[in-house]
Amino acid sequence: MNPPHEPYRYEMLIDGRWIEARDGRRYGRESPAHDVAVGDYPLAGADDADLAVAAARRAFDEGPWPHTRGAERARFLGRVAELIRAQAEELAYIEALESGKPIVQARGEMESAAGLWEYAAALTRQLHGDSYNTLGADMLGLMLREPIGVVGMITPWNFPLLIISQKLPFALAAGCTAVVKPSELTPGTTLRLGHILQEAGLPDGVVNIVTGDGVPVGARLAEHPAVDMLSFTGSTEVGRHVVAASAGNLKRVALELGGKNPQIVFADADLDAALDAIVFGVYFNAGECCNSGSRLLVQRDIAADLREAIVQRSRSVPVGDPLDEATKVGAIVNQEQLDKILGYVAAGQQEGAALRLGGGCLPTERGRFVEPTVFDAVTPAMSIAREEVFGPVLSIITFEDAAEAVRIANDTMYGLSAAVWTRDVDTAFGVGRGVRAGTIWINTFMDGYPELSFGGYNQSGLGRELGRFGIEEFTELKTIQLHLGPRTNWWHRPGVNDNGHVERVSPAES
Ligand code: NAD
Repeated sequence: MNPPHEPYRYEMLIDGRWIEARDGRRYGRESPAHDVAVGDYPLAGADDADLAVAAARRAFDEGPWPHTRGAERARFLGRVAELIRAQAEELAYIEALESGKPIVQARGEMESAAGLWEYAAALTRQLHGDSYNTLGADMLGLMLREPIGVVGMITPWNFPLLIISQKLPFALAAGCTAVVKPSELTPGTTLRLGHILQEAGLPDGVVNIVTGDGVPVGARLAEHPAVDMLSFTGSTEVGRHVVAASAGNLKRVALELGGKNPQIVFADADLDAALDAIVFGVYFNAGECCNSGSRLLVQRDIAADLREAIVQRSRSVPVGDPLDEATKVGAIVNQEQLDKILGYVAAGQQEGAALRLGGGCLPTERGRFVEPTVFDAVTPAMSIAREEVFGPVLSIITFEDAAEAVRIANDTMYGLSAAVWTRDVDTAFGVGRGVRAGTIWINTFMDGYPELSFGGYNQSGLGRELGRFGIEEFTELKTIQLHLGPRTNWWHRPGVNDNGHVERVSPAES
């Protein structure tokens, strides 16, 4: 498989039409593995974002999407899943070209993305509120779930189609409309998804896709007064900007942010299984992964042996051309990210960690590839133990017992995920309950299912995606109180309650 001779050329989707940016500007993207042009996109400005928001607003306020029957929305989402599957090979190719990830892995992501649309289709007809038939003979209480409105969605470059599929089908299932801003580095498959949505029969304006930089396009969505909710996946640093920008209209903000995720390995674990999960956990997607298991916490007794086994196993991990079917670790997404990774390697050495493997680039003529890298003698205070490297760099820290493991695991501003490796059920659950993270894997790593919600504690996020909670995030709750039959309880009616009758005071009146 080779990169294309010509870059793919895209337009963006606003109100059902494929258009250029208003001022006609465009930009290009080279494959980080091959250094050849693979994509050419409109470079939108804030006014393009405004147009897209206006279209989504109209589609929400005038309908029909928010009021279509669940059955119809479910059929639509199911058709999208089928179309993603039918086009998976080309989608995976585009994803591999733009991001530098292995084609084999990209194919798996397309299948997972289709599964998310399918799951959201099933959820559509399950969305419901609550009712109270316990308020007395003359009162019925209803809690309705309504779509929250126009949702701005901002996504990162590392799993483009998968991450938009964690948001968009759930928002559409709830009856929302959307403006999507994919990462400027990897917008291709999100734009292709726009064509799929149209082919599946989505009304104009329900989903709009605007390509361009975080500032101004993402920033405009975050501050826009006509956007009701912002769903953001990206770095914790930009997440903070998004929260600040959203304060103007106090829109709801959902955040999926970074992580510094520990895999905690006890001496009694199945060490062969743990070893495989350790190298998978840190080298998967070249470490450019929010769930990267970049911190390895190992019980002291087995640390030296496990480190040797990791170094040996790491030497044989195939790194190289993402279009080669045998590749497990592809290219680093751009020069800026490469410099950042190499900066952390240098910092690790300066701060006194021991570099046991790698630490440099592969000597290739084209593209940028980082060697699998292993540090040990890492202490919790070092930057490689605290900060998101976002590269194939493992930091090994040792611990004595479960209490110390939990303390080290929690010594971070993040709280996205963690793994515990042990055969002892008390240790597994004790540590699992002690670690403050949104997902705990026990004797496994980085599995995911549409049924199971995902999100971060601490500065790894706000809110949850996926699962049944994933659709509820895109709804507002409306309380309806319905009085039945003739009125018997009066606040002031001369001659009726001026005789010592106790007045009703409800929480809403107090
Ligand atoms: P990023 O924060 O740099 O960018 C994310 C998106 O935000 C991009 O579309 C970008 O254009 C946009 N953006 C940038 N500045 C903005 C601003 N001021 N206002 C609004 N939007 C703005 O992140 P990235 O480098 O694309 O992705 C890597 C980060 O994403 C890592 O920190 C990773 O951990 C995180 N991530 C988290 C999850 C999760 O589910 N928790 C999943 C994947 C990636």
